[in-house]
Amino acid sequence: MTRRRPFHSSLSPGAPFAPSLILLFILFSWGCGGGDRPERVEGEPLRVVSTIGMITDLVERIGGDRVSVQGLMGPGVDPHLYRAGAGDLRALTSADLVLYNGLFLEAALGEVLEEMGDRVPTRAVTADIPRDRLLAPQEFEGSFDPHVWSDVSLWRIAAGTILNALLDVDPEGEAHYRERHTALDAEMEELDAWVREEVARIPADLRVLVTAHDAFNYFGRAYDVEVRGLQGLSTVTEAGAADVQELAAFLLEREIPALFVESSIPTRTVEAVRRAVLARGGSVEIGGTLYSDAMGSAGTPEGTYAGMVRHNVTTIVGALGGAR
Ligand SMILES: [Zn+2]
Repeated sequence: MTRRRPFHSSLSPGAPFAPSLILLFILFSWGCGGGDRPERVEGEPLRVVSTIGMITDLVERIGGDRVSVQGLMGPGVDPHLYRAGAGDLRALTSADLVLYNGLFLEAALGEVLEEMGDRVPTRAVTADIPRDRLLAPQEFEGSFDPHVWSDVSLWRIAAGTILNALLDVDPEGEAHYRERHTALDAEMEELDAWVREEVARIPADLRVLVTAHDAFNYFGRAYDVEVRGLQGLSTVTEAGAADVQELAAFLLEREIPALFVESSIPTRTVEAVRRAVLARGGSVEIGGTLYSDAMGSAGTPEGTYAGMVRHNVTTIVGALGGAR
């Protein structure tokens, strides 16, 4: 499959920092005393701002009533494309702690987060994942694949990083945070084992996950599934006609019964692949909607990290013929 440069390859870690106008404005107001970060009030919850829902959920789980979490990116929001609005910048500048994924997932927020780090405690939740457990596909020119949450064992490490970040800014809450983290960690360990068992139900030759973009490479490595995405690691570049035909040929040749759409990505490219398979006389179904880069709505099972993982796995296993 033809690979394109991911959007974030132009944002290498050493790239010169070029602040946007809106960021300059915020920083300028700071200098004038108009945007000073309010002091934390004793007894008030810790103000945490997080980017993707998968982080927001872990912070809520570990923080409980000691924290008030504002997640910037809601259901259906694509983090690769997300840009901060004025309200987000206000929340970020007045936060006690900012947590983000890092690895250039939040590509368009990158410079804001970078600049924020000088003023507000800011932590990339992927910072403690050993670099040798990160995927660095050579076609992405040295950038790591940011979608680590699709491997539950890696997201457990992120939960530990979130715990430590909370301890750093609110050491008095140590017993509270540790107790809640321990319970969460046990649940995640169980979830990881559950995913492995479920995926193993899929017949080995059909254990192929085809989606719109490459959000499931860590999932594939952890749970032994071959993964094919149309758009590459980032969603900034769109798949071309040649990619669509190539993927259709692959699905036909391997007789894969289903491919999947993602809640945060327009469905048209996946539908184009399906049509291409049908045009060649084959058959393939849309196996359902997966939550790749964003969770489901708050208050639904898919609105939590564990619920999102369970939904994805149940959908994948069902559509690829995993026996019950
Ligand atoms: Zn993605």
